[in-house]
Amino acid sequence: MPTFDTDDVTIGSIAIPETRFMIGDHFPELRKRTVCEGWGFDIELLAVLDILEAVSAGLVSADDARKGLLEAVNRMYGPNGCFDYESAEDRQAWCERDGGCEACRRHQSDFERLVADAEGFWRRYQQPEKYPFTAGKKGLHETGCSVVKRAMPKQFSRPVGSQFSQALREYAHAANPFMDTGNYEDFDGCWNRAATYPTFRPMTVAEARAWTAQNTGPKGGRNYKPCRVCAPAL
Ligand SMILES: [Zn+2]
Ligand SMILES: [Zn+2]
Ligand SMILES: [Zn+2]
Repeated sequence: MPTFDTDDVTIGSIAIPETRFMIGDHFPELRKRTVCEGWGFDIELLAVLDILEAVSAGLVSADDARKGLLEAVNRMYGPNGCFDYESAEDRQAWCERDGGCEACRRHQSDFERLVADAEGFWRRYQQPEKYPFTAGKKGLHETGCSVVKRAMPKQFSRPVGSQFSQALREYAHAANPFMDTGNYEDFDGCWNRAATYPTFRPMTVAEARAWTAQNTGPKGGRNYKPCRVCAPAL
């Protein structure tokens, strides 16, 4: 998704006002480098010609020109979401070096919600008498069902400290930044949530009744499937 931007470029003592840029459309492999070094930026040709004219008239140096253009890139980098165009390897390496990155910050609150929910599901899963029914993706189970057991990780505890940063990084960097809805339930990325985090929700009898009512249409059509393995008696 390319964006268009305008920047008041300054080359030494010369102003090139309202220079037009297009960002994120062309990434020529021939001159590949990082996006923060200008890869993916297209600039208005006449602005370049005016800069060259100022250089040949001796008003500014070529070094001023390079510096001024890279400063413009730097100003437009954040507002145009350029971090998302950097390669996955660079984003990963910079995040590890700096102990966090833009993607991690952007995903922190939905990841915290995900962990809190997972922790709640896990705690309930240990008390099947109190929470005898469990909602899966579309199915209703008894909490002791073998299908539920297979869907749950073997063990779970909330990641803390450096483990949390690492877990957040795995989540945030797997996300497709262009498809992110801010809701972890709609997570769009290559990441196996269920392998680490409980995703099935154990419920009390009252909660299970409310859940089935909520997932039953006005004409009695069910939006869920009672599991055929455990045949939940609700
Ligand atoms: Zn990160
Ligand atoms: Zn997110
Ligand atoms: Zn079942």
